[in-house]
Amino acid sequence: MKIAIIGVGTVGSAVATAVKNTGFVHEIVLYDRDGLRARAAADDLGHAVCFGFDVKITAVSNYRAIRGSDIVIIAAGANQRPGETRMDLLNKNASTIADIVPRVMANVDAKSVKIIVLTNPLDVMVMLTQKLSKLPAGRVIGTGTMLDSARLRTILSRQFGVSTQSINADVVGEHGDSSVIDWTSVSVGGLALDDFCKQMKMPMPQTTRNTIEHRVRNAAYDIIRGRGATWDGIGSAAADLLRCIINDERRILTVSTVSGAGADSVAVSLPRIVGASGVIATLRPKLSASESSGLRRSMKIVRKNYDAIK
Ligand code: NAD
Repeated sequence: MKIAIIGVGTVGSAVATAVKNTGFVHEIVLYDRDGLRARAAADDLGHAVCFGFDVKITAVSNYRAIRGSDIVIIAAGANQRPGETRMDLLNKNASTIADIVPRVMANVDAKSVKIIVLTNPLDVMVMLTQKLSKLPAGRVIGTGTMLDSARLRTILSRQFGVSTQSINADVVGEHGDSSVIDWTSVSVGGLALDDFCKQMKMPMPQTTRNTIEHRVRNAAYDIIRGRGATWDGIGSAAADLLRCIINDERRILTVSTVSGAGADSVAVSLPRIVGASGVIATLRPKLSASESSGLRRSMKIVRKNYDAIK
């Protein structure tokens, strides 16, 4: 399995590290318009290989060298500065995607390649990548709210003193400020959230839920304030998605892909079955009235920003 990573900054390097550590990939090629940065990353990661799985990692200076890649991960583009929203990156990163996607498509097998998009604003970049690549929607996948869902599960896990593995909790909609927490479907050890809270005598009033929502939506801002950027969470999310595809695991992940046609098409995250061919099916979660209207609002925001690309 050969993987290409386009954009080897903070996020691209973290993705390469996490992918290398899965042991499921035999070759990773790194391309960045800053060739020095790509070569340095390949050297550093190449040394790390001595202590783990045997993966060939090379920096490449042109797109011809990504030929034979089964999956291409796009992690290039500007990241948020403190206080900036993901949507503030819209036009800057739309031109980055417009630069990258045609070059990628000229060098991969369009019949089978899958593209994983990480660049923000994520959902809009998924739509643009799908349009420019002309690939079937299910083969252009954004990590979407996988990371937001992980943040929610982590908070709940600490609150309840229960492993994240025993908590099902999804964030849907935009990977951004309009994301929606699907409280209706949260379950802990198979019990609906309210039942779990009652049995464990751990009440969860609306004020606590509001605080959790705030922490989930602002996690990236808090990390950027303290660390300058976010990379570990997204690196692991991308590697997990990759593993799901490579092994045809058919897990249900909250990823972003384009649904609908024409002026109604939009990419947001919903629970989707993911396997070797990419996104296989999409589930519509049972949402409360306010969650449903939040999701509709989120879809409108993504579509409006896509239409606003200059
Ligand atoms: P960074 O500045 O550290 O790295 C970006 C890299 O992209 C640089 O090395 C740059 O040279 C390269 N690049 C820019 N334009 C390019 C082009 N046209 N062709 C090839 N390479 C190009 O930024 P980062 O922190 O690594 O973030 C990268 C992207 O990932 C940002 O858009 C950021 O917002 C996004 N991100 C997404 C998530 C998520 O959950 N999806 C999480 C964190 C960051």
